[in-house]
Amino acid sequence: MAAWPAVDSDDGTEQVGADPRPLRFAIVGAGMAGIMAAVRLREAGLGDFTVYEKADRLGGTWRDNTYPGLACDVPSHLYSYSFALNPDWSHLFSPGGEILAYLESVAQRFDVVRSIRFGDEVVRCEFRHGRWHLDTAAGVHDVVDVVIAATGVLHHPRLPDIAGLDSFGGAMFHSARWDHAVPLDGSRIGIVGTGSTAVQIVSAVVDRVARLTLFQRTAQWVMPAANPPFTEEQREEFRRDPGTVTELHANLAQLFDGFSGAVVDAESPQMKHIEDACRANLEGNVADAGLRERLRPDYRAGCKRLIVAPDFYRAIQQPNAVLVTDAIEQVERGGVRTADGRLHELDVLVLATGFKVDAFVRPMVVTGRGGASLDRAWAARPEAYLSISVPDFPNFFMLNGPNGPVGNFSLIQVAELQLGYILQLVECLRRGDCREISPTHEALTTFEAARVAAAAKTVWATGCRSWYLDDRGVPAAWPWPFGRFRQEMEAPRLDAYDMV
Ligand code: NAP
Repeated sequence: MAAWPAVDSDDGTEQVGADPRPLRFAIVGAGMAGIMAAVRLREAGLGDFTVYEKADRLGGTWRDNTYPGLACDVPSHLYSYSFALNPDWSHLFSPGGEILAYLESVAQRFDVVRSIRFGDEVVRCEFRHGRWHLDTAAGVHDVVDVVIAATGVLHHPRLPDIAGLDSFGGAMFHSARWDHAVPLDGSRIGIVGTGSTAVQIVSAVVDRVARLTLFQRTAQWVMPAANPPFTEEQREEFRRDPGTVTELHANLAQLFDGFSGAVVDAESPQMKHIEDACRANLEGNVADAGLRERLRPDYRAGCKRLIVAPDFYRAIQQPNAVLVTDAIEQVERGGVRTADGRLHELDVLVLATGFKVDAFVRPMVVTGRGGASLDRAWAARPEAYLSISVPDFPNFFMLNGPNGPVGNFSLIQVAELQLGYILQLVECLRRGDCREISPTHEALTTFEAARVAAAAKTVWATGCRSWYLDDRGVPAAWPWPFGRFRQEMEAPRLDAYDMV
């Protein structure tokens, strides 16, 4: 296990009056955002931190997901840390294993690994005497000034509420818990779901299995996208001239800024362009009229998270692929029975049914100032000022927290911008402007009211079921163009904060 700094005091008072104030941090989670936070803290001279990681390996979602076909549908040169651009990406959209290796190499290169405490989950986090007291499952107690929660969004698998799941006689697992011991070649595989995950699995396994049955509850629009490899000459050029990689990163960022402008304005011409591209993909690439109609969504493209896939339509038209659109009635020992009474016999059943997206830092129990409970604060739904922090939870900051920019963006970019913002708040603590900083209730209320109003104009609110929608049907996302997010992240408006 990596060495990590010991903590010998838990009232925090010995540090009062130090100039600048020495700060100790806990980073919760060693996924993409946690690694980045560790790099940036150390770079800012804030090296007193421990990264708590409940698993025995870093990588977050890229560690948990190992399903066949796993890739990131954000171009790799954008889904990269700005401080560690990578000339060696193999493809425009590189596979998941490569992304995990990249995260591991960055963590090694920036000396993050020695600060990670692996295999220990932070279960409790309590603000007492001006500092955060953390308890881990292994019984470790740590006291820190600042918590950076980098616990991920798509993290807790959601199992479907389907009768008889446990009675299945074959192998069954969630897509984020892929069992590689189960042979696929020549098998009869069933996949529940038609999200980004299921679509990638279908394309990857259809040519290996005897029969692939895709259980589709809701059809999806599919944005066509080729996934060309980078040639060795191109990679050599990237290595020789790192400026070209920087330029590529910047150009892609600009392109995605444009995409954000489209989805937050359902009536924009760019949105129409995306819808036209999806429709042309369906019309042009699915030959059989009956299949085409069953694959045609009855809602607008982009309402659900857009599927970006090079060859889903090719895959689902293979002779051994079956698209089932009858509702699932129950799972039985031999397979899945649908509402038309048919039993679809299966050896393997994959539940590509998504994630519980409203957990964020939970199940960690977080208690703020004056005994405030995060569970209670979020009893209706999770909310955070600018998706980063919550009133009464001072010096507690989230990366990729509630209602932030999601949806076909680089969450690395999002987390980097958020961390830059958080570091400015931390600087107030370090300088001694205050000892505790948290958003005011008024700031959160005003922000939420504006966010909810703006969300009504987004394409996500045009009438579909999706994981973007909260319990009220309001998109739980940043509803403005990405440029506005960049602007907000440039400098905190300190009048939105309680500074004690
Ligand atoms: P998802 O988008 O939430 O899709 C879950 C699928 O399961 C939906 O098709 C849903 O149907 C279906 N489903 C859920 N419960 C069901 C039930 N009881 N019966 C039948 N069908 C059921 O999950 P995901 O595909 O894992 O993707 C989640 C997110 O992960 C993505 O949106 C994306 O942000 C991220 N992701 C990204 C990539 C990438 O390339 N960057 C790849 C994979 C995932 P309904 O549509 O009818 O609800």
